[in-house]
Amino acid sequence: MMSLSPRLMLSAGLTLLAAACARDDGAHDDAGPAPAGAPVIFTGGPIYTGVVDAPMAEAVAVVDDRIAAVGSAGLVLGAAGDDAVVIDLGGASLYPGFVDAHAHLLGIGMRELTLNLEGVGSVAELVEAVAARRAGMDAGETLYGRGWIETGWPEGRMPNRTDLDAASPDGPAVLIRADGHAAVVNSAALDAAGINAATPDPAGGRIERDAQGAATGVLIDKAMDLVGALIDAPGPEQKREAYVKAGEVYTAYGWTGLHNMSVDPDDVALMETLSDEGVLPLRIYNAIDRSGLARLAEEGPRRSDNGRVVTRAVKLYADGALGSRGAALSEPYSDRPETRGLLLMQEDEAAAAFEEALAGDIQVATHAIGDRGNKLVLDWYETVFAAHPDAADLRWRVEHAQILHTEDIPRFAELGVIPSMQPSHAIGDLYFAPDRLGPDRLDGAYAWRSLIDAGAVIAGGSDAPVERGDPLIEFYAAVARRGLDGAQTPDWRPAEAASRGEALKMFTAWPAYAAFQENALGTVEVGKRADFTVFSKDIMTIPEADILTARPVMTVIGGDIVFDARAEN
Ligand SMILES: [Zn+2]
Repeated sequence: MMSLSPRLMLSAGLTLLAAACARDDGAHDDAGPAPAGAPVIFTGGPIYTGVVDAPMAEAVAVVDDRIAAVGSAGLVLGAAGDDAVVIDLGGASLYPGFVDAHAHLLGIGMRELTLNLEGVGSVAELVEAVAARRAGMDAGETLYGRGWIETGWPEGRMPNRTDLDAASPDGPAVLIRADGHAAVVNSAALDAAGINAATPDPAGGRIERDAQGAATGVLIDKAMDLVGALIDAPGPEQKREAYVKAGEVYTAYGWTGLHNMSVDPDDVALMETLSDEGVLPLRIYNAIDRSGLARLAEEGPRRSDNGRVVTRAVKLYADGALGSRGAALSEPYSDRPETRGLLLMQEDEAAAAFEEALAGDIQVATHAIGDRGNKLVLDWYETVFAAHPDAADLRWRVEHAQILHTEDIPRFAELGVIPSMQPSHAIGDLYFAPDRLGPDRLDGAYAWRSLIDAGAVIAGGSDAPVERGDPLIEFYAAVARRGLDGAQTPDWRPAEAASRGEALKMFTAWPAYAAFQENALGTVEVGKRADFTVFSKDIMTIPEADILTARPVMTVIGGDIVFDARAEN
């Protein structure tokens, strides 16, 4: 039990909510040292608590890293005493800290340190960006970039080697598409990798070719491995820089935390060190690669000294992605009838990993996108749960859960399995999903409404750097289910949109639950950690299309203001 300022604690009428219950099961997030600092009070704009009985407040008081009082401005300010510091929201809206329940922190940082191509609007712009980057590099050095996507470009095509040769004639250039499933490279990269007209397509990949059979520079899926040797893996110094940069980018978007997927087990200690040093303030919940499971299971869940970096999950893969037709479907792809996608794990491999995870109290998070992939993962989970009836409250997750058989939708809630879904994938994929799936299978696609109605808790994420990683885009996508330009067709199943209240939970309370942190995070309640996201507009009430015009104003993690747009003005 933490000791709160007696005046705050005793103020009648404050929304004091279970002050004593700030504990946290699996994440070891216990009450910290007794708060001693002066209260800091946030007021002057709508405050969304995420608490059903008292969803709105006028002021929230923070003592050290905890929420000490929530309620009306008069009562919270009146109870605080003369030493209180008041932070005026200036009409901006405060929410529980937004958490991205599926992202890749190192990739987000590397996107910043290499050539970041998100938002590039045409082949011409891409060429310009490559030329500008090349100007500052050594001749033989590989120019590496990521994030382009040709959807909506005026040229109506992917870039090719000829485009890149103009901007980078000598040194190799390798530019990965936003989804990570294709790359465009220049002639120097093709030469350096030994790719020519005679090179066969590798298994699981394709070298795109022109009418004469020559490589165009576009490499699909496994064919990207052919140029892998040209890209240096980041060394320790670059990794450190990338993680710190990613933290800066993410807090500036308004995120207070993320669930970090497919983490190199060797990076966990680095993140813990950076967090303890105070240069990576984000709360991080790590799901490590399969390769690190045995050791993590043996040593058990771990956390940084400051408690902000928690590692207690493993990421597995059941299938591939929809865009590249790697997602495992029960019936053939509508636009390529000879394939049903790829299964990346067999049941015996899954079962072995599950047993290891169970024995070590490690949460399992399995990537599944196609309806067959999702059905199999639910079947496998069901089997292992049945074999361990004593193992309760496991909260195993399915990452993406994009295309579901409608009869599998209720199984998530029945089994206590958490679908971890990325709304921006829906509004990106729905442009091509009707081609891949045909009309009928869209019923179970990105089915937020159906999953929630069936009782599931959806952990909302962005999958950055595959997507931008902007909480406002994710929130908008969840409630609007429209393209960023407002586009929508009946194929997009508008009825599957989430309500604003549900979308708020997808990025606050539900990620907390999905990481066993709901006693410490996810709502603005007395006793919980003071994690807040402040946006310039009230995204719970403004017209849908205006959500994208809101801006992050302040990001508060454990009472520390780690991003403050007001300071930049
Ligand atoms: Zn991902």
